[in-house]
Amino acid sequence: MHTKTIAELAAGLKAGEFTSEELTKAFLERIKAHDGRLNSYITVTGELALAQARAADARIAAGTAGPLTGVPIAHKDIFCTDGVRTSCASRMLDPFIAPYDATVVRRFKEAGVVMLGKTNMDEFAMGSSNETSFYGPVKNPWDLKAVPGGSSGGSAAAVAARLAPGATGTDTGGSIRQPAALCGITGLKPTYGRVSRYGMIAFASSLDQAGPMARTAEDCALLLGVMAGFDERDSTSVERDVPDYSAGLNNDLKGLKIGLPKEYFGEGLEAAVASTIEAAIEEYKKLGAEVVAISLPNTHLAVPTYYVVAPAECSSNLSRMDGVRFGHRCENPKDLEDLYKRSRGEGFGAEVKRRIMVGTYALSSGYYDAYYLKAQQLRQLISNDFKKAFEQVDVIMGPTTPTPAFNLGEKADDPVAMYLADIYTIAVNLAGLPGMSVPAGLVNGRPVGLQIIGNYFDEARLLNVAHKYQQATDWHSRDPEGFN
Ligand code: GLN
Repeated sequence: MHTKTIAELAAGLKAGEFTSEELTKAFLERIKAHDGRLNSYITVTGELALAQARAADARIAAGTAGPLTGVPIAHKDIFCTDGVRTSCASRMLDPFIAPYDATVVRRFKEAGVVMLGKTNMDEFAMGSSNETSFYGPVKNPWDLKAVPGGSSGGSAAAVAARLAPGATGTDTGGSIRQPAALCGITGLKPTYGRVSRYGMIAFASSLDQAGPMARTAEDCALLLGVMAGFDERDSTSVERDVPDYSAGLNNDLKGLKIGLPKEYFGEGLEAAVASTIEAAIEEYKKLGAEVVAISLPNTHLAVPTYYVVAPAECSSNLSRMDGVRFGHRCENPKDLEDLYKRSRGEGFGAEVKRRIMVGTYALSSGYYDAYYLKAQQLRQLISNDFKKAFEQVDVIMGPTTPTPAFNLGEKADDPVAMYLADIYTIAVNLAGLPGMSVPAGLVNGRPVGLQIIGNYFDEARLLNVAHKYQQATDWHSRDPEGFN
């Protein structure tokens, strides 16, 4: 059962080939058998999952099931889950039991989707390798010496190793697409505002967006259909109809205009990754697409701009973790100042502290104009590049990452090298656009992802473009050895 896609599992449930309880048990057993090697889950909610599965089976029997009722998935541990630990992979929130569900979690619950557990991640979603988790690093199922990417590395590794047929992720600068690429699965970061951020622990509020991670574009379409939509509890969620993302998956790609930005194929891109992406583009030409050379001239500003905006916003968002309102509290504080200092000092890891310090500095009076304001201006230039490009092309393609998965420990002591792992993904968040990563090949046994960037609210087209490629290739259905 575990080798089936979400679409196949949903069909099997509907046809009565197996029950949700059997299916959920099978995944819980796989997690028990294999996750010791990966560490992809922080919390496995076995009993809750089985209760949800039995309720789903009752709905299926009563004829009141929705399209995904009874299918199990995992949630990144950044989403609040009622009655279940929600740690954000931080010591700060290790004991935190959320008193309510994030909107994304609630929607899946209402759809009858079963929650297997909460997946590991970089602490507060800050990282590109999953090495900053309080619960230890996640391993890449394709090679246990390699990182799975981050920050949604637990979700990506769990899906790649078939320990969940799909999972939720969040993407502030690449955290869905980059781990999807490094683990050989499909991930979609929607347009900013498409999915509610309510109950999703905030990192950088103007960039954070939740999205689906699964093996195929078809599955991402099914998951996004549940997640997307207006939420009056999130003032940045957009009031706009949710299309049927599955309806246009098979649309013909004849005449599709693909923009290839020259900046995404320059220095820093590993040659074997470049040739993998070129082969994927050839596949699109066979499907009738046309390729247009474009330029996104401000690409080089994306990483520096992001590393002002994201830390600035995180320094504000994380101020609530003070040991009083939220979070770990130190033992026997002398006075209030001691309580704040020691609680935050003990609760946060090194990368989170670095970001809070950078962000506080960038927002401080006297530096605000020089850093935060300047970064907002650059952000506009980066958005304008995309706006111009989309006057000429339908989608933009390039590599998701400059290299395949790197080794554990390789970049852990060099924050700038780590930040550059997101060089092709970050601009998309700054502009608020949707982007996907699709498995496109293997280099030395490690997966490579093709990134597809779309115009605002063009998720249905991205899914169509990705699905047609997956009909013509089989990279998305390869299994990592040792996890079949
Ligand atoms: N790797 C980037 C960072 O460390 C992006 C993280 C994310 O998208 N949550 O901030």
